[in-house]
Amino acid sequence: MSQPRALFEIAVAAPIDKPLTYLVKDGGTLPAVGCRVLVPLGRRKVTGYVLGPAGEPETGTKLKSITELLDASPLFPESMVELFRWTAEYYRYPIGEVIRAALPSGLTTGSGRQITVCSGMTEALQSRIREAAAESWAASLTAQGYLSPSRTRKVLSASPSRRLLEKWQEEGLVSIEEIIIDARVGSRTEICVTLTVPDDDPLPEGLKKSELKTIEIIRTMTGENNIPVARASLATAYSGARQALKTLAEKSLVQLIERVVYRDPFGEQPAFFPKPTHLTPEQDEVLAELAPALKDRKFAPFLLHGITGSGKTEVYLRAAETVLAAGRSVMVLVPEIALATQLEAHFISRFGDRVGLLHSGLSAGQRFDQWQRLANDEAPIVIGARSAVFAPLKNPGLIIVDEEHDTAYKQEDGLRYNGRDLAIMRASLARCPVILGSATPSVISYRNAETGKYTLLTMKNRVEERALPNVEIIDLQKIKTVSGRPPLFSGELNSALKKNLKEGNQSLVFLNRRGYANMVLCRDCGQAVRCPECRITLTLHRGRQSLICHYCGHSTHSNTVCGNCQSTTLLPVGFGTERLEDELVKLFPTARIARLDTDTTARRQDFISILKGFHERKIDILVGTQMITKGHHFPHVTLVGVVWADAGLGIPDFRSGERTFQLLSQVTGRAGRGEKPGRVIIQTMDPDHYSISTTRVHDYISLYNREMAQREALKFPPFSRLINLRIEGQNEEAVRRTAKNIAMQARKLGGRNQPIDVLGPAPAPLSRLHGRHRWQVLLKGSSFKELHALCNALLERSAGLTKTGVKLSVDVDPENML
Ligand code: ADP
Ligand code: ZN
Ligand code: ZN
Repeated sequence: MSQPRALFEIAVAAPIDKPLTYLVKDGGTLPAVGCRVLVPLGRRKVTGYVLGPAGEPETGTKLKSITELLDASPLFPESMVELFRWTAEYYRYPIGEVIRAALPSGLTTGSGRQITVCSGMTEALQSRIREAAAESWAASLTAQGYLSPSRTRKVLSASPSRRLLEKWQEEGLVSIEEIIIDARVGSRTEICVTLTVPDDDPLPEGLKKSELKTIEIIRTMTGENNIPVARASLATAYSGARQALKTLAEKSLVQLIERVVYRDPFGEQPAFFPKPTHLTPEQDEVLAELAPALKDRKFAPFLLHGITGSGKTEVYLRAAETVLAAGRSVMVLVPEIALATQLEAHFISRFGDRVGLLHSGLSAGQRFDQWQRLANDEAPIVIGARSAVFAPLKNPGLIIVDEEHDTAYKQEDGLRYNGRDLAIMRASLARCPVILGSATPSVISYRNAETGKYTLLTMKNRVEERALPNVEIIDLQKIKTVSGRPPLFSGELNSALKKNLKEGNQSLVFLNRRGYANMVLCRDCGQAVRCPECRITLTLHRGRQSLICHYCGHSTHSNTVCGNCQSTTLLPVGFGTERLEDELVKLFPTARIARLDTDTTARRQDFISILKGFHERKIDILVGTQMITKGHHFPHVTLVGVVWADAGLGIPDFRSGERTFQLLSQVTGRAGRGEKPGRVIIQTMDPDHYSISTTRVHDYISLYNREMAQREALKFPPFSRLINLRIEGQNEEAVRRTAKNIAMQARKLGGRNQPIDVLGPAPAPLSRLHGRHRWQVLLKGSSFKELHALCNALLERSAGLTKTGVKLSVDVDPENML
């Protein structure tokens, strides 16, 4: 009998569904679970992730061995392997690619070929260089002695140069070898100071004046938890500090430590928030309900529905304290936004260095450092955007998802996962509680609370009895103009803006209008024209003179009548934030006006400088899309104007009513967050629309009930589950035929025991994007298991169904139908 071989299950970063088995060469180091390895795959070498030991394969399978072990310590704990497997299976995505997407970027080592001049051959090569017919690469090769992998790839792809190089290789002039391309990223740290003497201990005698002053400043800056102070900011506060620190360190009164830089993108230390001395009665109640779950090692999902300003953050902080004290770690997810949030600042104020941050505001190097701190158990708290759900915490004791309704939790390309849903799954695997928090919960989460799947926690009052802003609705239909079209700015909004300017306060002007296809609105009753089957707004295709439903493909001539009042005056609508900015400049020539949307903020730097200008009150009126609504705190904003609330209702998506309410509530919450009260003016063509009337009175429950009734009638989630099959490619005909094939096949296969609705094929609302044509087929059914089975069956047959050059991808639980 031979020795059993050392076999490992490896997820390779390549489009392969299942993990592969590799062996470790005799005497080789056995890799730990969570480490990266380099493994051969076909003729390439790729990164793989060690999932665990593997059993012997069926006889006859020839196994390859691991080329190289890439990590000394694991990048993720063994307990996460189950989450990766689940994610891959649920979202129909190759497991190695799941892990690649989960890890911070810059970690995927690949391999490539590199041409190197053999030792002592430079002169010989120079004499042969004429053969290369003055190719520029040949000069670089002799000068540098090698060609980089990317250059090598290009050179080898042209057959004349490849043949020449192969000849040179045979003659021993050059070698062409596989090398590892390591994309490792660096870190940034700063020196920080902490005091070693407790606050109330007496200081030793004989300290210099500058030393005493330095200690005093450190004490005021560190707060009650003795959070380290950056040496640089200390020196800014007091110029004598630098010298004094040296002598204080010699006397062991201060300690200098190095830590990863925490800075907001403005380059400042995050604001400090002291711990409140008393909780509100509602905070007390909610924490009392959470207490048993925080102690137990059991899965327990909670939905915390608390209005804006009710103090949800403090609930998170107290719950986190309890869990940390028990030696378990805490994960906090926030919607993806480009700036450090208030929530982050609260956590850093309370927990200082124990917080690890994972969000897009960090450079690749910083992200990597943070990841390592988490993987090495150096930071027991992680705060981050959706991908932080994969943070390498060994022992999570609490997961928090703030603003759980936010669409930013859904990744819209590659691995199309929902960070909130995975947070639930992760909590279930880790056996810990999870809190979803929101002022405007998603209909689906609220439904789960209603059915008892989640425990509902409610906070109905603002801290310190602050009032919610007063919301005025302006009916644009009632305003008569010469052109017959409603004005952009009503008299009320116009004079409110003027008054606010005069008083030196800031205003936000909001319009959620992105640059895609128009919809059509009835001039008489203000309703959008909708699909008779799905109630989704129809999109105008001018070329075809038709209105098309992007869910089911239903189409009518563009000369149709209003389904609500039979009027024939239908207006295509289309104006955006750019137009608003122009108009505002005309109306208020002396005001300082800026615009914040994806067009003006292509570069992150622009985004930051506009927001900074607004923070510093160098801008009077800020115009923008939903970008201006998230996470920011502008205490001098006393007026919010919503120019056309209906813009979002025209988005062809069954969630448009819910989204409009969420967005309007969020914009509304931007007004009057400082001392001065806020005023909100919402202009609309459809003041009776439930999304708008419920926003006015801050009534989430009514909105929820309306949404539920509609979705039940049309069998949309939560009364069904959806999987969207996206089909795209450059050749329109090939894309259309593929979509048709897939829809036909899906109808033929159907559900096993329960019917599955196949909607489409239909062009996606964004029917052309980046030069590619896009179609979709939507699967709708009441049993997720059956939907999943149908999806799998279609994917198994996908080779026969898809035309060449057409890509089929799966979007499970789609959030965005565009
Ligand atoms: P939410 O996240 O629910 O919108 P926040 O957590 O931002 O609300 O709280 C609103 C404000 O009230 C914040 O400035 C916060 O610091 C403050 N706050 C929260 N809880 C208390 C408390 N118990 N006592 C005093 N102030 C509090
Ligand atoms: Zn009408
Ligand atoms: Zn339809």
